[in-house]
Amino acid sequence: MNINQNYKNLTESYLFSTIAKKVNEFTSLNSGVKVIKLGIGDVTLPLCKSVIDAMHNAVDEMSKVETFKGYGPEQGYDFLKNSIQNYYSKRNVVIEPDEIFISDGAKSDLGNILDIFDRANTVLIPDPVYPVYVDTNIMDGRKIIFIDANEENDFLPMPDFSLECDIIYICSPNNPTGAVYNRTQLSKWVEYAIKNEALILFDSAYESFVSETDLPRSIYEIENAKKCALEFCSFSKMAGFTGTRCGYTVIPKDLNFGGLNLNKMWLRRQTTKFNGVSYIVQSGANAVFSEIGQQQIKENLNYYKRNARIISDTLDTLNIKYTGGKNSPYIWLKCPNNLNSWEFFDLLLNKIGVVGTPGEGFGKNGKNYFRLTSFNTLENTKEAMERFYDLFVLK
Ligand code: PLP
Repeated sequence: MNINQNYKNLTESYLFSTIAKKVNEFTSLNSGVKVIKLGIGDVTLPLCKSVIDAMHNAVDEMSKVETFKGYGPEQGYDFLKNSIQNYYSKRNVVIEPDEIFISDGAKSDLGNILDIFDRANTVLIPDPVYPVYVDTNIMDGRKIIFIDANEENDFLPMPDFSLECDIIYICSPNNPTGAVYNRTQLSKWVEYAIKNEALILFDSAYESFVSETDLPRSIYEIENAKKCALEFCSFSKMAGFTGTRCGYTVIPKDLNFGGLNLNKMWLRRQTTKFNGVSYIVQSGANAVFSEIGQQQIKENLNYYKRNARIISDTLDTLNIKYTGGKNSPYIWLKCPNNLNSWEFFDLLLNKIGVVGTPGEGFGKNGKNYFRLTSFNTLENTKEAMERFYDLFVLK
């Protein structure tokens, strides 16, 4: 019996446990201080009314023999795939329903998709990064090339045409940096992928935070992207489904590599290893695309966007450099006074009782950066940033 030895190459992440430990120590010594957490990477507002109503309805349908549902299609119900197709068409992107695969969230699909790729492929991953891309490839033993996302390239690395790779990860709007690629930049990546006969895995989990209308929310807004890219999307941040679980992956039908069709391979993979997302959850997800559903999720998104603005306005006033905030729930700031990200973490916690996430936890280029998020309440975000302002202005 041999095990997958690649698991030995995974590094343990102590990021969130170290944060929790430091916060616990601080609160035990300073019980009178209200700690405000701006490190939260999870949504906090409840599901909107249309989603709840649709799910209640679906539960009732499950209670009657005439409307009861057993196993559904592994790749998702047509009603939801049609709504997603329609959602794309509003941005002039043509996606067929059978190019859409409903999942229980982007994280599972981002990991599972590697089933259909050779382990000898070389993977290009930006640093800093959402750690799932790195760990899932380490588990398979793939060679990873890291490309620097840093101050020089505004945290938006561009392709080096002399570099060869097979799989490219792009996350835009980015976690953790909040940076968003524009059309010209994404076109270059598409050009590079086609030239290299490589495949882009585009993670658009945060697309609904894009406020500037000229920025792409889908890779398929870029010409020729259907020839070289898959897209992973999620209801998690768009509609608060982090605990409800629903997402979707787009695999264009004419993507062929090594004589095999990726769409057919993924269908085969899913029908073999996955039994679909529950009817109740898919009914809730579908309600997001109704007119009223769109309005209601927009209210929640605007709430988070307002928090992001409060954070970025404070940083602007203090002349602290950052990316993100405008088209993303994340604000990635350069730690003032040359502090490294853990020193800055300690400073904020000990002086003002505010918690964020040290950039180092996302890769070496995060060493002097810090991630704040807009997922706390308006009141707490205001209070945290007032404390933050006082700390730096009074210094
Ligand atoms: N992709 C990125 C960049 C994320 O930050 C996250 C979650 O934080 C995910 C994907 C996972 O999303 P889901 O909840 O759909 O699994």
